[in-house]
Amino acid sequence: MTPINYDEFGPFKIIEVYEPSVNLRGTLVVDNVARGPSIGGVRLAPDVSTQECLRLARAMTLKNAAADLPHGGGKSVLYGDPAMPLEQKQELIRAFACSLAEVEQYIFGPDMGTNEECMGWVRDEIGRAVGLPRELGGIPLDEIGATGWGLLHAIKVACEYQERELAGARVAVQGFGAVGKHVARFLADEGAVIVAAADIRGTVACPDGLDVGKLLALKEAGGNMIDYPPSPGVTTGDAESIIDVACDIWIPAARQDVIREDNVDRLRTGMVVSGANIPITPGAEKRLHERGVLCIPDFIANAGGVICAAMEYQGATEAAAMATIEEKLTYNVRRMLDIMQTENCLPRQAAQDMATRRVRRAMALRRWSLF
Ligand code: NAD
Repeated sequence: MTPINYDEFGPFKIIEVYEPSVNLRGTLVVDNVARGPSIGGVRLAPDVSTQECLRLARAMTLKNAAADLPHGGGKSVLYGDPAMPLEQKQELIRAFACSLAEVEQYIFGPDMGTNEECMGWVRDEIGRAVGLPRELGGIPLDEIGATGWGLLHAIKVACEYQERELAGARVAVQGFGAVGKHVARFLADEGAVIVAAADIRGTVACPDGLDVGKLLALKEAGGNMIDYPPSPGVTTGDAESIIDVACDIWIPAARQDVIREDNVDRLRTGMVVSGANIPITPGAEKRLHERGVLCIPDFIANAGGVICAAMEYQGATEAAAMATIEEKLTYNVRRMLDIMQTENCLPRQAAQDMATRRVRRAMALRRWSLF
């Protein structure tokens, strides 16, 4: 049985779903809805867990509040191989949506293993999804790179703070999916040098820089980072070896807990800007802070996707969503760094104070704090 840490914010609802006829096993956690119905992605992977779902749902409460969105935090996980045949995936996602049709406090969004098409199926079943395909009036946030766009602006502020030029900065990107590939593209457009990229199959690195166009073409063709064309200076290694690559900016954009107390000292970077959710354990983050490595926490840095989703929900255009992401990310990272300096605390603590103050204020306006 998963131990659940109840606190002043939640979790409000935990629902486990099981329907063997369609191999459906999943979990929904609605963490807190004081600011409005919760928005959070559906993660599809073979090794998800209720514990992971609980932590991700809390991260969404903080992220949505930090971004000042009228939404609470929730998340769902679905057990299965994201590479399963499309027909089977469609049946599974549709069944999961139907099983949660009555939980109106949760709005489905895309996450690892799910995409706009999946949200189209959810919308068709229960009418409650964001991150929809263009054909359904959506702003396809993964296709346009909404989260990567937000990360770019978080990184710009962090560079200002560290008095570091973005042009020429060496960047390592762990995970080359919807988040990783777009942030690599946006950073390369600003003159940053992508010195390493990893996916689940391995790492490719080159101190002089990799050609982002070639990385994107590989991804497009269904290849892996380690299939990068051999050339002088280019090396390959296992997925974990990206941790050892010397760089100025290290971007986790894959799974949770990839940086822990046991491997944090291998990182040789000036800042870690979290594209992934909960990629660093609290102990490892503290250690990085003590070493002078600036960590921009996940729920601040990767809010671009959910800002885009919330704006889509309100009927905004893609251009308005991208402008709002830039504005909110720039403001939030500056504000967080100000609090960090004034309070002499970890960036995460500063960000958490910003977010929880907003959630508490919303809870105080409710008859029952969680309803
Ligand atoms: P994705 O499924 O599109 O891509 C994930 C990438 O990570 C793939 O390239 C995969 O091969 C790689 N990967 C998986 N395990 C790995 C490992 N152990 N080492 C190296 N690479 C590994 O997923 P995504 O949408 O890009 O999401 C990535 C992370 O960002 C997740 O933590 C997700 O919750 C978070 N996030 C995504 C969004 C979004 O807009 N998509 C928004 C906020 C946060």
